[in-house]
Amino acid sequence: MKQNFAIIGLGRFGGSLCETLIESGQEVLAIDRDEDRINEYMNIATHAVVANAIDEMTLRSLGLRNFDHVIIAIGEDIQASILVTLMAKEMGVPNVTAKAQNEYHAKVLYKIGADRVVHPERDMGIKVAHNLVSKNILDYLELSDEYSLAEVKVTNPKFFDKNLLELNFRQKFGLNIVAIRRGERLIISPLAEELVLKNDCLLLIGADEDVERLDAKMQ
Ligand code: ADP
Repeated sequence: MKQNFAIIGLGRFGGSLCETLIESGQEVLAIDRDEDRINEYMNIATHAVVANAIDEMTLRSLGLRNFDHVIIAIGEDIQASILVTLMAKEMGVPNVTAKAQNEYHAKVLYKIGADRVVHPERDMGIKVAHNLVSKNILDYLELSDEYSLAEVKVTNPKFFDKNLLELNFRQKFGLNIVAIRRGERLIISPLAEELVLKNDCLLLIGADEDVERLDAKMQ
């Protein structure tokens, strides 16, 4: 379904977000106070506007409240990032995602109503670290301090050709399988009778230590 996004701040993060959303067929209004940045995105974004987002009248005249998602990707200027997040929420934008510089910034953004806070450098650091220490954990998304959603490749023959009931990941590892990726196919909410095959990827949710325990069993 086509959705409309507004991105405020076209640095490395906002810029790559803009390009990827456009590639996936979404509509994007790109806003930056820097004219050179806007010129760069003029032919990429659906619309690109030079504007200082801390000006409430400007945000209103751009119709910010009519967007499904607003992403505040302002870099260094924490004060501006907080103010713009607050204004977007006050205008009634349903989904506001804000980029945080550090933990304190993230805390404040959540407090003032951001629906999602991302911390790209930290999140990527965690992902890369997990990928470096394990060849079976393909992807990793931190859900909280303790819990993650992980994608684990099934490489140990002990797990091959057994169904989920027999493998009993919930009992043995405290892990819930939410989907199985098999080549191009994604089996969502697999049934207990679903067989696990060699090279399947299990998308699972659980405590970090349990994900690591399963990963160790795959080596
Ligand atoms: P990154 O770490 O993602 O590269 P940057 O700090 O380089 O982030 O980029 C942030 C972008 O946000 C810059 O292009 C900057 O011009 C823009 N920006 C910062 N403050 C405002 C503001 N008040 N209104 C609009 N754009 C802003």
